[in-house]
Amino acid sequence: MSDTLVNVLWIPAGLSCDGDSVALTSAMQPSIEEIALGALPGLPNVRFHWPLIEYSLGGAEFLDAFFKAGRGELDPFVLVVEGSIANESIKKEGYFTGFGNKPGTDQPMTFSDWIDLLAPKAWAVLAVGTCATYGGIHAMAGNPTGAMGILDYLGWEWKSSAGVPIVCVPGCPIHPDNLSETILYLLWQANGKAPMIPLDEAGRPQWLFGSTVHEGCDRGGYYEQGDFATEYDSPKCLVKLGCWGPAVKCNVPKRGWTGGVGGCPNVGGICIGCTMPGFPDKFMPFMDEPPGAKLSTNLIGVYGNAIRTLRGFTQSTLDKEPKWRHKGRELTTGYRT
Ligand code: SF4
Ligand code: SF4
Ligand code: SF4
Repeated sequence: MSDTLVNVLWIPAGLSCDGDSVALTSAMQPSIEEIALGALPGLPNVRFHWPLIEYSLGGAEFLDAFFKAGRGELDPFVLVVEGSIANESIKKEGYFTGFGNKPGTDQPMTFSDWIDLLAPKAWAVLAVGTCATYGGIHAMAGNPTGAMGILDYLGWEWKSSAGVPIVCVPGCPIHPDNLSETILYLLWQANGKAPMIPLDEAGRPQWLFGSTVHEGCDRGGYYEQGDFATEYDSPKCLVKLGCWGPAVKCNVPKRGWTGGVGGCPNVGGICIGCTMPGFPDKFMPFMDEPPGAKLSTNLIGVYGNAIRTLRGFTQSTLDKEPKWRHKGRELTTGYRT
């Protein structure tokens, strides 16, 4: 293990439900324990400042590391943000989100105060969950807070002082192993053991978000045969019940959920596009057939019906044994001496 000490400063104080912190506790490949205890090769020394595991510290003691980082006394550190960022400028008084108080005052440090203080000094900024990355649920049309994600707050082209773009791991909640793998990668990179993290145009790790839900779905064979479910107790393709999988970048059906088990459509849940910047507004109303699906399912329906009939013939042939397997004195296998 390297002597480098990398601090991970986790602020779950955006507009959030803490679902992504909770999700990380069930990560298995790797687990957060393996990372925090340095049990994997190539890791630097790591110190997490995360409410979920530093619960024994009091408020001021817990916040000490965050203020130290703000004074430039904690280098390098990864800033993890969870939850969307309320626009604190749109009102005359009060605040939407706070995380401790400003030193020497009884006034709250808002989430955006912390980002303003820490982002310029961070080795990297990691946004966890769709609220933190793109705004998510709290940034829906009609919301009163003007909420946004970190890309809109810092700018989509923003880079850290070390030249690392904002790293986004969306999901509502985030997939546990997608997050733990990304943390592991960033720590390897901070320790000089990995090249610059490869990200797509929306800041997502390419190796995790390079394929669609549809490409990894257990039900893909039904789609290809034009065999669509019309009710939920069916193993068939869910597109007519509102699944957006063909257009959504997410590896959950392929990866499964905790321990590889589950994964939305695999277990009967339509994909509602929770990893996408347009979530949730562009996927609503949930449970309606996506507009583009009408054309594609009509086309695939014609092809699928014909293919299913032909496959039925092939299947009935393959379901019968060859005719030379029989008793009697005659050999009919075609064997020649
Ligand atoms: Fe909660 Fe979803 Fe927002 Fe995560 S992305 S904080 S799970 S609402
Ligand atoms: Fe594609 Fe959704 Fe059907 Fe799966 S259930 S095959 S993701 S449309
Ligand atoms: Fe979200 Fe769809 Fe992925 Fe499920 S499959 S986690 S709903 S993007």
